[in-house]
Order: sequence, then C-alpha cells, then structure tokens
Amino acid sequence: MARILDGKAIAAAVKQDLAMEIAQLRECGVQPKLVVVLVGDDAASASYVRSKERLARELGMEAEVIRLAADVSEVELLRQIELQNADDAVDALLVQLPLPDHIDTDRVLAAVDPNKDVDGFHPQNIGRYAMGSPLVWPCTTAGILEILVRSSVPLAGQTAVVVGRSRIVGWPTAQLLLAHNATVVQCHSRTKDLTEFTRQADILVVAAGQAGLIGVDDVREGAVVIDVGINRVDGRLVGDVDFDSVVAKAGAITPVPGGVGPLTVAMLMKNTVRLARLRRLTKGDE
Ligand code: NDP
Repeated sequence: MARILDGKAIAAAVKQDLAMEIAQLRECGVQPKLVVVLVGDDAASASYVRSKERLARELGMEAEVIRLAADVSEVELLRQIELQNADDAVDALLVQLPLPDHIDTDRVLAAVDPNKDVDGFHPQNIGRYAMGSPLVWPCTTAGILEILVRSSVPLAGQTAVVVGRSRIVGWPTAQLLLAHNATVVQCHSRTKDLTEFTRQADILVVAAGQAGLIGVDDVREGAVVIDVGINRVDGRLVGDVDFDSVVAKAGAITPVPGGVGPLTVAMLMKNTVRLARLRRLTKGDE
C-alpha cells in the first residue's frame, strides 16, 4: 500500500516556516508585499484571489488586490502593471489568469517586472528555467518539489515522467526535475503509447486534466505518483490518476483533493518572500 503524501500537512509546515521567516524579515524592516491584479468577476478566479490575499495577511505580509472591470482596456491594464512595477513597496506582482479574450495574455505577462514575477511566467524567468536557475519556479511546480523534498524522495538519477507540457505546470515541472538531475521524459496528447513511458517512471507527475487517465496498469510497482489534475466528476473532485487502484501498487501517492493543491498557494507565499529577500536584502544579485 502506498504512502500517502499529505499535501495539507506539508503546506501547513511550509506556512509555519514562512510565518517565522516573515517575522524575522519584519524585524529587519522588510514587510513583504504581494499585489494581485484581478480582471473581471469570474467566481473561481475571485475565490482564488481571496484565498491568496487572506493567507498573505495571515502570515504577516501585506497584500493588495487591484480589481479591474471585465471590459478594461489592455492599455489600462498595462498602465496598472507599470504603476506596481514602479512602486518600491511591492515585492511580488501577479495577474490572475485567465484574462478576457480581448487582452493579449503574453503581452501582459511580459509587462510584469521580472524581479517581481511571483508566478514565474515572465519570458525572462522562463529562459532562466532553461538554465536551471529561475528567480522562482511557478507555484505548482515549486509545490511538487516541496512535496518530494519534504517526503525524502530522491531525484538525482531517477527516471521522472511528466504527463502534460503546459507552460503553467507540465513544462516547468520537467525543467525542475531535470535541474535536480532526474532523467526526464515529457509526454503530451500526441505521445504514442503513453503507458510505455509512464510504466518506466520512478517518479510520475500527471498534469493533463483528464480524470482517470492513469490507471494501475500505467504505473510501475513502487513508483512515486504526483497527481496534479483537478477534475470535477459527478460533483466530486478527482485527479488524473485512478487513486483507488493505483494506491495499492505505487510506493507513494498524492491524493486529490489534499495533495498538490494546498501547496500551490503556500508556494506563492514562499515565492513572495524569496522575491522580497532578493530585491531588498541582496539587491537581486543572489
Ligand atoms: P492544460 O490543459 O494547459 O495542459 C494539459 C496538458 O496535458 C497538455 O500539455 C496536453 O497535451 C496534455 N494532455 C492532455 N490530454 C492528454 C492525454 N490524454 N495524454 C497525454 N497528455 C495529455 O492544463 P494545465 O497544465 O493548466 O493543468 C493540468 C491539470 O492540472 C488540470 O486538471 C488543472 O486543473 C490542474 N492544475 C492543478 C493545480 C494544482 O494546484 N493542483 C494548478 C494548476 C493546474 P498537449 O500539449 O499536446 O495539448
């Protein structure tokens, strides 16, 4: 029976460490500040933003949400980003995605100051993943690493298979595993015979958004299975992995909910603190 990698407990430990770190920073006169730009009134986005704001404040940071109407012009959105870039009190800036169709998302992400790019989506940071050393890794990817490290899963020399190649999760996660010396295979919707690859994985990360994509026959005995997927099936949240069957064969597995999800927002806070440290204490030259 697999060890259950409890994301809630790991996220709680991350938050506890962060609260202490933030208290120390405040003693040195550094008050980390996160700004979130929210465009429109999508209920899910508004709820994610509220939880980010709440957690930042709980941990002792400053948090501000800039709410813009769904029909805001791209020029006005870029102007708001410029204002935050120029504000020395702001350490971390993120634009909640998705943006309305009339706005060019890539242009907006590229307008964020790379030193305040807490989501790690700026082209400069993406270039840095390729070099293995971004200022921050995107939050979900960073959360996956936190789970693996805090669960003492070795990475170097392991065969890691990542299903999914999105810019938000799959691609940076493959880069991160490579940077930690795993041997990495990246699969996607055009991969022929997915099972042939997933069965080789010592570490299998699944971020496809397809409920039940990975079943017991797709997993190697004893593998570490990280299920990033979030799917709603018959009113229930499930991952991309058939948990009930895979749990009997894997060595370790993250549940959904309660696996990677809780880490994502915790890592946003950790990234905020890191950017505050880099910008204010080391002048960005770490
Ligand atoms: P995207 O839809 O952007 O990307 C999905 C990726 O999976 C694509 O690369 C796609 O391939 C690949 N894929 C889709 N179907 C298959 C298949 N049948 N076989 C192999 N590969 C496949 O999704 P995201 O990366 O944004 O998110 C993935 C999942 O993770 C979603 O369920 C999302 O809700 C969840 N998520 C969870 C988070 C968390 O905190 N737990 C955070 C972010 C996302 P191709 O490139 O060829 O299209």
